[in-house]
Amino acid sequence: MDGDTTLEGDFGFGRSFTPHMATARFHAGRGWTATEVVAFAELSLSPAAMVFHYGQAIFEGLKAYRQPDGTVALFRPEDHARRFDRSAQRLAMPVLAPGAFTAACEAVVRADGDFVPWQPGNSLYLRPMLIATEAGLGVRAAGEYLFVVMASPVGSYLASGARSVVVWASVDSSRAAPGGTGSAKCAGNYAAGLTAQQLAAAHGCEETLWLDPIEHRWIEELSGMNVVFVQRGPGTPRLVAPPVGATVLDGVTRRSLLNLAGGLGYDTVERPVALDELLGANAFTEAVACGTAAGVVSIGAVHSAAGEVVIGDGRRGPVATRLGAALAAVQEGRAEDPTGWRVPVTDVAQPRHHACPGLGRPSGRTP
Ligand SMILES: *Cc1c(COP(=O)(O)O)cnc(C)c1O
Repeated sequence: MDGDTTLEGDFGFGRSFTPHMATARFHAGRGWTATEVVAFAELSLSPAAMVFHYGQAIFEGLKAYRQPDGTVALFRPEDHARRFDRSAQRLAMPVLAPGAFTAACEAVVRADGDFVPWQPGNSLYLRPMLIATEAGLGVRAAGEYLFVVMASPVGSYLASGARSVVVWASVDSSRAAPGGTGSAKCAGNYAAGLTAQQLAAAHGCEETLWLDPIEHRWIEELSGMNVVFVQRGPGTPRLVAPPVGATVLDGVTRRSLLNLAGGLGYDTVERPVALDELLGANAFTEAVACGTAAGVVSIGAVHSAAGEVVIGDGRRGPVATRLGAALAAVQEGRAEDPTGWRVPVTDVAQPRHHACPGLGRPSGRTP
């Protein structure tokens, strides 16, 4: 890692990688090779590799967290593994051998355990991906694929470390449509959202808030995060979550928050939310965006062609704060884990040294 990158400082998300990666190859007829841990290195591919032409590329994002006793745990790897399989099937790619996804993530953590940060809030981000490597320009599902898991120590996803974002509600373009690839975590979904992201930036917003592709009325999600709204009734606060499905990715973080909500005294309901309702006066006290990379982030304001609204006081709200803290406590091993979300990684090498500045193992702290 570069000596001048620190987790606390101004380093980009996912720009520094650990020394190892896991790889496996698929060949139609021969099936999958065993997963190998190799040095992190550039890939060598034919310019005719089908991923470059017809876009068979999927990925996942999950995190490994340092636990109070110095061990390391992955957060809900099997949920990410199942979604990876679903994404693969949607793009006519082979699913991994059973257990291979989590085993590959564990192998990278085991090899590069020194790079799992010690500071609460920081973690080792794992990026599994699957791409079509067969060379050939015929349009069909490829017969050869490469699976890679790389790892990057990360702090806060948002550049400023800010905990609230301003979003632009997009009515000109759509992220997903029924029957399309919206429920798959595929590279093309992101490429297709980049012009909307530029438009959002031109309106002074950091993220795109996607609406349904037919009426441009119902709120779906951000480009890489789900959204949940908070309604403060006469009684307990209620979390209102737009349903996931064909056009909204089924986020692990969203499901985790809805699951934790009851323990914090919040009701939950999954129902469609119209942009009009969000823009209406005081409909919601908070809007919360959530995903593995950024965690739990408040949406401070929504801008759109139809007008703009500040949500709450525009800053991180109390429900987002409590939800984020409750989730982090489970991830970082400071709370009970009744549903078995934490998967301990065995035989992780104990830290021998500060692997890079900013990993932040407090001196004098014994595991
Ligand atoms: C990855 C992603 C999310 C968040 O999913 P998590 O499992 O919570 O990380 C939400 N929406 C989209 C479009 C995504 O790609």
